[in-house]
Amino acid sequence: MECIFCKIVNNEIPCYKVYETDKVIAFLDINPVSIGHTVIITKKHYKNIIDAPIEEINEIMKAIKQIIHKYTKILNTNNFNIINNSGKIAGQEVEHIHFHIIPRYENDTTEVKTKKGNTEELEKTYKKIKSINN
Ligand code: 5GP
Ligand code: ZN
Repeated sequence: MECIFCKIVNNEIPCYKVYETDKVIAFLDINPVSIGHTVIITKKHYKNIIDAPIEEINEIMKAIKQIIHKYTKILNTNNFNIINNSGKIAGQEVEHIHFHIIPRYENDTTEVKTKKGNTEELEKTYKKIKSINN
């Protein structure tokens, strides 16, 4: 299987997994645009929002709501961009449906554009998120 996100689902490549149900998983984006930048995907492979059935998109949305509830407490912000890129021209690089959860902070200089990731920072963010259950 070529798809990188399917490999993450199958534990063939590691990720900082922050949320999981039987239908979806969420993990830290390897090249975050802000602290806590998270990607949420369905466990089943669909190319994008056009291909995925509404039931699967609903599962993503339910999870986004819960993740955001947790992040408002842990990351100390009430500001988020929720982004889905569907199709190459729209900026979709990984062809497995995903939504971006991008926390935003007062006076941040975040561009909604990925920068080179830093393992130490990802690890710190991950531990912070995993340290609280709800
Ligand atoms: P897209 O541009 O397709 O909407 O976003 C794909 C996102 O997946 C990018 O923000 C990119 O940094 C992230 N990404 C790509 N490969 C990996 C990976 O192997 N692990 C993780 N955690 N994120 C990835
Ligand atoms: Zn896939």
